[in-house]
Amino acid sequence: MTIRRLAIIGLGLLGGSIGLAVKARGLAVTTTGWDRDASVRERAAARGLVGTVYDTPEAAVAEADLVILCVPVGAMGDAARAIAAGLKPGAIVSDVGSSKEAVATALAEALPGVTIIPAHPVAGTEQSGPEAGFATLFAGRWCIITPPEGADAQAVQALGDFWTQLGSKVEIMDAAHHDLVLAVTSHIPHLIAYTIVGTASDLEDVTQSEVIKYSAGGFRDFTRIAASDPVMWRDVFLTNKGAVLEMLGRFTEDLTALQRAIRSGDGDTLFDLFTRTRAIRRQVIEQGQDDERPDFGREHGS
Ligand code: NAP
Repeated sequence: MTIRRLAIIGLGLLGGSIGLAVKARGLAVTTTGWDRDASVRERAAARGLVGTVYDTPEAAVAEADLVILCVPVGAMGDAARAIAAGLKPGAIVSDVGSSKEAVATALAEALPGVTIIPAHPVAGTEQSGPEAGFATLFAGRWCIITPPEGADAQAVQALGDFWTQLGSKVEIMDAAHHDLVLAVTSHIPHLIAYTIVGTASDLEDVTQSEVIKYSAGGFRDFTRIAASDPVMWRDVFLTNKGAVLEMLGRFTEDLTALQRAIRSGDGDTLFDLFTRTRAIRRQVIEQGQDDERPDFGREHGS
């Protein structure tokens, strides 16, 4: 199974980056695209995110061997229904959604009888829209493929090969397990960032201007994550409810234990945890998942 023609539905950060990566890596794949927003279609065409931007979803997916839905997870069902009439027999439909069980269900309902192989490239930024994409987004990052039970092995292989050609490392995982893992590594960290930034902005005895002025003390690193797209993240929490609530329960217990340690002056507990977490940071860097330069490689004046 060879992918010669790829249709990208949703031409924002993820969709645009896939199109640009195909071009930059010189893959022998013709790219087409569609977005529901006419202004996004215009800007995507101007940036050359895909070879041809079409005005209708059916035209964009006609003849495509692979269609990748790059819309917010809450819009996956609508996007799938929009392309249904244009799909050629045997086409693979995939997506890049950040939660996988709910998306798999939405796609299966919208496209009965179609080969659906959901996936999630674990790569992104806090930017969105057609100007945000870049060709190297997926280089060295994991792409998790979550094939439904009984999925066509050749289709899974073809999708895995495609992501490998974009520079990703590919892992196959069960959708429910994916949702649990990503709840810990991505969804809860975003929730914590949204919370701490929200709490700081609601304080009365510390002014907002003080929060911003002294943000280099740690707060500013949360503000990057908390600047992430509100639609995307609303949908992630609504569609990965079970796993997020389960992990949030664990997190709350651990937070309460820390609260107790601080109140009772239990320095050993604090020191032991902070030592373990430092080791995790070292592993993230060793595995090439972050910039090893101090302070995330920020430039500092002399
Ligand atoms: P984005 O930059 O906002 O792009 C999404 C695009 O899809 C927008 O242009 C949006 O148009 C369009 N769209 C929305 N509903 C649509 C529909 N029914 N049919 C066609 N187009 C539609 O978002 P993104 O960051 O690329 O995220 C896309 C997907 O990637 C999400 O499922 C997200 O969970 C996943 N993901 C994101 C990241 C990340 O860091 N950002 C990382 C990995 C995976 P409007 O602006 O008009 O709504």
